[in-house]
Parts: sequence; structure tokens; C-alpha cells
Amino acid sequence: SLRSVTVVGLGNMGQALAAAFLAAGHPVTVWNRSAGKGDRLVGNGAVRAETAAEAVTASSVIVVCLSTYEVVRSTFMPLETNLAGRIIVNLTTGTPDEARRMSAWAEERGIDYLDGAIMAIPPMIGRPEALILYGGRKELFETHQPVLQLLGGNTIYLSEDPGVALLHDLAMLTMMYGAWYSYFHAHALLRTANISAKEFLPYTSNWLQHLIVPMLTSTDSARRLDEGDYATDISNMTVNKLGLDNIVKSSQELGVPADWLLPIQSVADRMVFKGYGNDGFDRVFESMTSLLSLD
Ligand code: NDP
Repeated sequence: SLRSVTVVGLGNMGQALAAAFLAAGHPVTVWNRSAGKGDRLVGNGAVRAETAAEAVTASSVIVVCLSTYEVVRSTFMPLETNLAGRIIVNLTTGTPDEARRMSAWAEERGIDYLDGAIMAIPPMIGRPEALILYGGRKELFETHQPVLQLLGGNTIYLSEDPGVALLHDLAMLTMMYGAWYSYFHAHALLRTANISAKEFLPYTSNWLQHLIVPMLTSTDSARRLDEGDYATDISNMTVNKLGLDNIVKSSQELGVPADWLLPIQSVADRMVFKGYGNDGFDRVFESMTSLLSLD
């Protein structure tokens, strides 16, 4: 028979994780701070633990999905004796450094630890397309892969660094909010002429598909950043700086806030001033990484 799994934290995501283990036929023990959220899972066969300590003792694999690392620490640090010899699979979002410190805390106490980042929403959990990234000891990942695989078809091991999954999470989420906010800016501009989002849709699709997606996902774009190769005969820094100036000026004239563009505009200004006017706009990347490369 399949080994039991404990899920700690039954928010929107924790419930989806527990449901995926149940669907695969695993015995599942669940715990949540406030009562009620486990009812549906218990109805489907999960065992409700009365305390976090009881939840930990019920299984050798403890999957954790709480709101923050602060909550993870306050829940598990008092339970180090119960946890020894078991594995914590922490799927909570936090900073890479929090993940590294949590991993070190666990390893020092004989508790196995993997840190994961869920790049999916609850309805995707358990489906082939769900992407879940892991960092930590490879041998631990390999041992537990058959169970972890139940949460998503794209269950991927990245490296021994337990902070690396959350680093990927950060990278993807910052792209999401940047894209999302710029999308709102675009529609606020359109609304000044009463153009609805629906009307604009065909042009958004064309623009994203043929220009933006290739710009951010082509192997050549990746190579340019990796090699610091900013040469261009398509669109140079000077013309992009003028383009940014125009967006800021037009937005101001139309009464749409463009404050988020001001730091980008000033970096482009400085790049032109420093003599990089003929390089591609991707040289802006250097303004973020030049300090990093000093160590
Ligand atoms: P919810 O807000 O739905 O759930 C939060 C969970 O944290 C609940 O179980 C809550 O318990 C618990 N919690 C909060 N504070 C405390 C505390 N002081 N002590 C004990 N438990 C506490 O969030 P989600 O389930 O959506 O998210 C959980 C994690 O999963 C987050 O780190 C999130 O970033 C990550 N994630 C979520 C995704 C999503 O689409 N939802 C996508 C990818 C990652 P209680 O019920 O008692 O309040």
C-alpha cells in the first residue's frame, strides 16, 4: 500500500495539493490552523490531525504550503524532535534566502528538506502541464519524485541550492507583474478615446505573438543577455529612448500616470549619454547587473 503523506496548510493551494495525493490513492493526513478548511478533504478520506505535532508524526513526508516562511518557522521550529528522520517539502513562497536558512535549520537537526516553487494555480495541480520546481539534495528529490510527481506533470529538479526554486519563482513573477501593470497602462491610454479592451484584443494578440513573445523567449535574445552582446541593426538605444520619452509625454498629456516608466527612461537617458546610443535597448540590463559582477 502507498505511504502516507501529510499536508500542512489547507489554503486554496494546500487543499489542491492534498486532493491530488488523495486522488492517487495515498493516505493523507491534513492540518490547518483554523478548522473547516479540511472538511471536504476529510469527506474524501483524509485524516484530520488535531495538532501540527500529530500531523507531523503521521507521515514521513510532510508537504507544507502556508502563507509565509514566518508562519512555516513558527509552526515547525517547536516540532524539531517530531520532525527528525522525516522530510519537509516546503512549497511556501518566500525569499531564496529564507529557503536556504530553513534548509540549513532542518539539515542541522537531521530533518530532510526540499524547497519547491509552484508555478501553477490550484486548478492546475495534479495536471500534466503544472510546473513545480525544486532545489535541495538531489538524492532526496530522486527518492521522493514518485510522490512529488503527483502534484504536476512538470516536476523539475533544478540544483542542490535550496533557494533556487524561489529564485525562479521571483524571476517569473516579476515578469508577470511588469507585464500586467503595463497592460493596465495600455488600456488606460486606450480608454482616453473610449476604446474597449475587447476592441483592442486582436491588435494585442498580434503584437504579443509576433513581437513581444519572440523578444522574451527566443534563443537569440537569451544568448544576447548571456554574452552581453547588444549590437543591433534593428532598433537602437537612441530611438528607444525617444520612444520612451514619447510614451511618458503622451501619457502625461492624456492624464494617465506613467511614473513606473520614469526610472527606465532615466536609465535609457544615461546609456545614450555614456555613448551606447547605437546599442540595442537590452543594454539596459547592464544597469541592473553591473553591481553584481563586482564580486
Ligand atoms: P491561502 O491564503 O488560501 O492560505 C494560507 C494558509 O496559510 C492557510 O492554511 C492559513 O491558515 C495559513 N496561515 C496563515 N497564517 C498562519 C499562521 N499565523 N499560523 C498558521 N497558519 C497560517 O493561500 P494559498 O493557499 O493560495 O497560498 C499558500 C502558499 O502557496 C503561498 O506561499 C502562495 O504564495 C503559494 N502559492 C499559491 C498559489 C495560488 O495560486 N494560490 C500559486 C503558487 C504558489 P488559516 O486557514 O488558519 O488562515
